[in-house]
Amino acid sequence: NANRKFHPNDTVVEVGGLKIGGGHFQVIAGPCSVESGEQICEVAARVKKAGANLLRGGAFKPRTSPYAFQGLRAEGIELLSEARGQTGLPIVTEIMSASHIPLFETVDIIQVGARNMQNFELLKELGKLKKPILLKRGLANTIEELLMSAEYIMAGGNTQVILCERGIRTFETATRNTLDISAIPILKQKSHLPVVVDPSHAAGITSLVLPLSLAALAAGADGLIIEVHNNPEKALSDGAQSLTPDQFDGVMEKIKGAAAFF
Ligand code: PEP
Ligand code: MN
Repeated sequence: NANRKFHPNDTVVEVGGLKIGGGHFQVIAGPCSVESGEQICEVAARVKKAGANLLRGGAFKPRTSPYAFQGLRAEGIELLSEARGQTGLPIVTEIMSASHIPLFETVDIIQVGARNMQNFELLKELGKLKKPILLKRGLANTIEELLMSAEYIMAGGNTQVILCERGIRTFETATRNTLDISAIPILKQKSHLPVVVDPSHAAGITSLVLPLSLAALAAGADGLIIEVHNNPEKALSDGAQSLTPDQFDGVMEKIKGAAAFF
């Protein structure tokens, strides 16, 4: 059960010797999509050097257009494992279908993307695993609906769920989505699960990633998931919101400074 009433203590999710939640703050960073072995290994080395604790990278991509790059799929997961071998960073990648679960055996944290937050049959299958699940809030879903989706996973016996606020659709067009800052304290009050924030998809613009990251930290988030690409201009997805490794160095410096303060 995700409700704090029945579980007053914070849930701490453990992965590869790292803890998330209960006062443990972690940064997940990496490209939107895994594009090649060279790309993912280069980005992994840089984000590790900057102080990130986990590596993200999409292998199965939920693209709006069927003609857009769909991800390297199984090969993408193999390349992520290679990058983990080189850096020691645990890997986080998105699942889109329950039929792909066997391919995710080597993955450390399975991400459920915004578009699948209410794919209840997928959530039920993930509930049978003994692996942390990063559950992203849907584009047009309420906080209550996010918590009920977490319940779907937990009801099956998998209690290692991390909630993720990644911005919601509003009338505002200046940003890709609107980061719902209030969702962080509300989720922390209602639930004992760790809450991480994705400033990249919320903003859609690189220059907003730092201020939104600092706001998330101040609001009580347990971590951040940030897109970083070695060549954002040539990225096969989400280049406009991806930081260069140099920009990520600067963001991490400020996050570390602020984390010491909070
Ligand atoms: C992603 O993390 O690259 C992604 C597709 O995120 P979301 O599901 O939040 O849109
Ligand atoms: Mn993305």
